[in-house]
Amino acid sequence: MEQTDRCADLLNSLSLAEAQAHIFASVTPISGIECVPLKQAQGRFLAETISAPISLPPFPNSAMDGYALRHGDIAGQRGSLLTVIGTAFAGKPYEGLLGQCQCVRIFTGAAMPTEADTVIMQEDVICEGDQIRLTRTVSPYANVRPIGDEIHAGECLLERGKMLQAAELGLMASAGIPKATVTRKLRVAFFSTGDELRPVEESLMYGQIYDSNRYLLHSLLNCQSIEAIDMGVVPDDATAVKQALLDASRQADAVISSGGVSVGDLDFVTASLAELGHVGFWKVAVKPGKPFAFGRIGPAWFFGLPGNPVAVMVTFRQLVRPALHRLMGTQPKLPLRLQAVCRTPLKKSPGRMEFQRGQFESDMEGGISVTGFSGQGAHQLLGMSRANCLIVLPKDNAGVKLGERVEIEPLFDDFF
Ligand code: AMP
Ligand code: MG
Repeated sequence: MEQTDRCADLLNSLSLAEAQAHIFASVTPISGIECVPLKQAQGRFLAETISAPISLPPFPNSAMDGYALRHGDIAGQRGSLLTVIGTAFAGKPYEGLLGQCQCVRIFTGAAMPTEADTVIMQEDVICEGDQIRLTRTVSPYANVRPIGDEIHAGECLLERGKMLQAAELGLMASAGIPKATVTRKLRVAFFSTGDELRPVEESLMYGQIYDSNRYLLHSLLNCQSIEAIDMGVVPDDATAVKQALLDASRQADAVISSGGVSVGDLDFVTASLAELGHVGFWKVAVKPGKPFAFGRIGPAWFFGLPGNPVAVMVTFRQLVRPALHRLMGTQPKLPLRLQAVCRTPLKKSPGRMEFQRGQFESDMEGGISVTGFSGQGAHQLLGMSRANCLIVLPKDNAGVKLGERVEIEPLFDDFF
């Protein structure tokens, strides 16, 4: 590309932050909900805010194995003598009343006997026949979980848009909620474009390559809240690309393509999008990943990713996944960024923000260090596989010296 073309190109490009802001401001959550039993709600997004139907815990109970007592009787004093008059097990409360200087043997989770307000741990008493002697002073209300300690009935238990995972599903069960009202699954159709692409099961002719993007997109879309629709490989042909876009937009809320989005002779995606719908923008100043189209075809949102597989992964993380979050009714989540000390020099020219592949680890001082490595090509998935993070280099950065601080994005947060 000529120098002047390159400058014009950069001027016409959006920064990553501008592109993100544009996309997140455009897409709105899908409508449609369904009610599913808890065991089928894993990975789904709550479509309504839930109030606690009961307090948690629902009754005051013991946090320890020990003895339940009335603190006023003994003022918690070491050396006090109490008579044991019964036992309270989890699920089998002690039903009687507690007289002066009496106590009840109690186990973790058992309801506190009426009038008892304090539990002394079994390690802090010695048994003398049917009596116990305190070997330590105990404070009032010690080792008791009061009613509503965690949440009171009527308070907000879980907010709309929350993804239901182990903690949330367990929490709902503990509040006696058997079903969850969740956003319906988001339908995402995806296809690859390119005459050179072959499905992985077939053999290659000279000049052809295997289609890797559909396999990695299938994996990136692996989420219980998404119904991923694989639409195969589309040839570099204007009519075929248009047909694929139309078919996809009729059956999906979001359409993702890879390849053919640049300005080559056989790049039909952006032109087809402009003909069938609306192009939001189509260049983002990031490397890898500059050609990127965003727009709309009928009711479906469209994301035209570049062809190179690493660029697909980078733009998906930055621009597509957060947009899908928004479509599914939750806040767009951008990848986590951390500071790290760079243990290798890194090459970079100013002009575009860059995501380089790196390996980070905790260092001896408790900080994080990162090393870059060779194999940074946008077509080289091997580098992506070796990496456990992306090193984020800002637009104007002109290279990194050994020992300089950089930002990294760990790749282990690659779930929805
Ligand atoms: P394009 O954006 O279509 O010009 O593609 C850019 C580069 O990515 C070319 O080298 C393509 O062969 C390659 N490419 C495009 N799509 C895929 C795919 N699905 N799997 C692997 N490589 C691809
Ligand atoms: Mg192509």
